[in-house]
Amino acid sequence: FTIPLRSALGNLSPYSPGKPIRELQQELGLSDIIKLASNENPLGPSPKALEAIAHSLSDLHRYPDASTVQLRQALAAHHQMAPEQFIISNGGDELITLIAETFLEPEDEVIICSPSFSEYEFGAHLMGATVVPVPLSPSFKFDREAIVNAVTNRTRWLCLCSPNNPTGTFLPREDLRYILDALPKHVLVLLDAAYSPFAHESDYTDGLEFVRSGYPVIVLQTFSKLYGLAGLRVGYGVGHEMLVHQIAKVKEPFNVNTLAQIAATAALQDVEHVRLTLKSNHEGKLQLYHAFQQMGLPYVESTSNFLLVELGAAAKDIYESLMAHGIIVRYGGIWNLPGHLRISIGNIEENSVLIRAISDIL
Ligand code: PMP
Repeated sequence: FTIPLRSALGNLSPYSPGKPIRELQQELGLSDIIKLASNENPLGPSPKALEAIAHSLSDLHRYPDASTVQLRQALAAHHQMAPEQFIISNGGDELITLIAETFLEPEDEVIICSPSFSEYEFGAHLMGATVVPVPLSPSFKFDREAIVNAVTNRTRWLCLCSPNNPTGTFLPREDLRYILDALPKHVLVLLDAAYSPFAHESDYTDGLEFVRSGYPVIVLQTFSKLYGLAGLRVGYGVGHEMLVHQIAKVKEPFNVNTLAQIAATAALQDVEHVRLTLKSNHEGKLQLYHAFQQMGLPYVESTSNFLLVELGAAAKDIYESLMAHGIIVRYGGIWNLPGHLRISIGNIEENSVLIRAISDIL
């Protein structure tokens, strides 16, 4: 064939986010695999979501609600905003692509702090736009001056991830305010707050206050982490009604399936599952901090449900040995952090197995 590709796609290759549990089970012939690689909820899905799904299976011959009315109303009540300010997506991932498709032209620039979540770069490249990386500081803090200085008249999109994946550091409220006040009017800001429920620092912001004050910010949220619904694929964006209306133009009508909509609506009410998840994450984080301190391994203090730990030159070998033990974590090399591993905080038992395995390897 000689079918020409869209020129922007020359920059892309298919992305595969880590090894699935089943594949490793088959490879190693092990039944017990511990996956601490995708920042999933170690307690499992919200029980209220499971119950709601069980009651709606008989509706599966119907198409989903294309306007996701119930879920947007539930979110509006939850955040005390208007339903028109919400757009529901097939995971937060899809929101990023939708924003790229709505706003980016090939001549545009996209500012991305680095290292960060890879999907922003994917969205920019998909549309043929230019990525302008702004490095975090050596201690992985956001550099607000560098971010503002990177803006040109071609900048269309600024991606900020807070808490940042993979570092677990965050952008303090006053720094976000400083950046927003300095930006020219043609720049859209994505504040990716996928991990916001795990951040309890008083100077942390999930960005919603800036949406409420009318800044051109879209906040990304997901049901994959806190609510344990990663497999259902449901996330959302919150922003000014006008921005949300523009993004809705490129969304496929049935992008979020019926079970995902029902489960997400129920999960929002599952206060007990949220409480237990946050408790488990807090305890698991302290357990891992303590163990890494004892082993003399430096780590980055995290406001999230994962930790970046420094293992130096042996990091890749340790990553592979852990895999051979049936423990999947994320190797830092994919973010150009070859001496690091990103480890999702598991439950107490999973963390104990991980700690034992690392200290055996060291
Ligand atoms: N943002 C960040 C920073 C993430 O780490 C993730 C998940 N890895 C997402 C967004 C998207 O999550 P999902 O598509 O599962 O909603």
